[in-house]
Amino acid sequence: MHLLLVEDDELLGDGLKHGLALSGYTVEWLKDGRSADAALKNESFDLVVLDIGLPEQSGLEVLKRLRKRKNDVPVLILTARDTVEDRITGLDSGADDYLVKPFDLDELCARLRAIHRRHSGHSSPVIVHGDLTLDPAAHSVKLGDKILKISAHEFTLLHYLLSNAGRVIPRSRLEEILYGWNSAVESNSLEVFIHNLRKKIGKDFIRTIRGIGYMIEKQV
Ligand code: CA
Repeated sequence: MHLLLVEDDELLGDGLKHGLALSGYTVEWLKDGRSADAALKNESFDLVVLDIGLPEQSGLEVLKRLRKRKNDVPVLILTARDTVEDRITGLDSGADDYLVKPFDLDELCARLRAIHRRHSGHSSPVIVHGDLTLDPAAHSVKLGDKILKISAHEFTLLHYLLSNAGRVIPRSRLEEILYGWNSAVESNSLEVFIHNLRKKIGKDFIRTIRGIGYMIEKQV
């Protein structure tokens, strides 16, 4: 899952970036409001973690502009200012949730899972598709009763395809989710992950749409 982190505090940002990456997110980290605003205009993200006190443009300003463009990506705001008014302003400006610093990384991850779940319309945190069960909180995948051994990248891919069942996802989008903007992508690594997933969950589960990308059929 592709996450934008906007935090100007070097130490906190660095810790969050690593912690969130370990939880399976592909994290882009920006440190001021103006570049966050530009990135949100040009790129698509699955989640945004947004600090309020930022150089150049405040987090609230970034958020207001984002919602004005009718972009409904889930946003969690981080605030050091523990006042009721700030939280109300944040939520009124279109935030889905907020955390007051200092906070616990596990709580942040749990809240991110919750807002993503609400956003993608899954009332249950666990995704069931035929014999396959994917649990984002436990980071586990089961086929029938059998727990599958799945790498972090394979999990990210499968989670995204399942969350978007019925839609063809372009290769470029999947590569962005796996690697973010900056990392060099080996040209066939996406195929390798798909190949491995098919070996584990069955070869017909993920369809190749030639020249475009991949999809998992929607369940009827
Ligand atoms: Ca700050």
